[in-house]
Amino acid sequence: MTSSLIALVTRLSDEAEAQWLDLLRAALPGETVLSLRAMTAEQRDQADIAVVANPDPNDLKSLPNIAWVHSLWAGVERLVAELPGFDRPIVRLVDPQLARNMSEAALAWTFYLFRDMPAYARQQEQKIWNALPYRRASDVTVGILGLGELGSASADRIRAQDFNVTGWSRSQKDLPGVTCRSGEAGLTQVLEESDIILCLLPLTAATRGLLNAERLGQMKQGAGLINFARGPIIDSDALIAALDSGHLGHAVLDVFDQEPLPESSSLWSHPGITVLPHISGPTDPRSGAAIVAGNIRAYRDTGALPDHVDLTVGY
Ligand code: NDP
Repeated sequence: MTSSLIALVTRLSDEAEAQWLDLLRAALPGETVLSLRAMTAEQRDQADIAVVANPDPNDLKSLPNIAWVHSLWAGVERLVAELPGFDRPIVRLVDPQLARNMSEAALAWTFYLFRDMPAYARQQEQKIWNALPYRRASDVTVGILGLGELGSASADRIRAQDFNVTGWSRSQKDLPGVTCRSGEAGLTQVLEESDIILCLLPLTAATRGLLNAERLGQMKQGAGLINFARGPIIDSDALIAALDSGHLGHAVLDVFDQEPLPESSSLWSHPGITVLPHISGPTDPRSGAAIVAGNIRAYRDTGALPDHVDLTVGY
């Protein structure tokens, strides 16, 4: 018999999961929120909502009566990929604080590339005293692939620092001060006109391997690339070839085909690549728990679900 019970299903450490439990319980007085790790078979039957962070798919399957799933993360690619045939709605975290965190990283690493920090670090290693030519930010174009929650917040923040911003999305957007493009031809234009490309697309059937040799070849000579989205959107062999040939200047990668990045990966030591351990857009547990709780309260009050992932397109 289903009643209202919320199951927290994660592969987080006990400590991190306990923090989420505390925050969710504080934000949802009157609800029973339990970690799946501590639930009896009867409680598993009673759960009607699962709140998840990178869950083991078998754990989710042990909750037969859940009506929907709320992810604590904004990116749900792995969840969708690991649950083929799953027919319950999946709601992802949409949190303005997360968008601020991501846009901060987008700006920081845009400045890193714009002010030639990789080149100066290499010069220092070789004790070379050499000033590279200065460009104004207003002479530099940043192209953002994906103009959703994170891409549009990043566009705003980068634009406010005098950069020109151009962007690409599936549907045509109209964002203040941003040259918005869509479609195949739009992607080619964004790649050709940008000095720095920032990738904030979801990983879907349509974006897997999108930045292949041909697409990277359309980028400007010496351009920089930042991938804060998902590793498989970029063909890493093609990226290494583009860096080795000097066609691209430098890449900042926060996401990889396999995470953690294996020690054996040549990306670790490539001079043209900065490796980050998937930290560009951290979820903020305080604001995240409040948003999840708000969505659950609205569902209890009205039966309405927040926007959920369109499983036919994968995001
Ligand atoms: P949204 O769903 O809000 O935005 C996705 C954007 O990508 C939309 O503008 C969408 O277009 C566009 N898009 C999707 N498919 C295509 C396509 N085939 N062609 C062109 N444009 C496309 O997602 P978020 O902004 O919230 O997040 C983006 C991604 O960031 C997540 O999926 C996740 O992978 C990654 N992420 C990374 C984190 C990190 O720490 N590295 C943290 C959080 C998220 P349209 O607007 O027309 O729908």
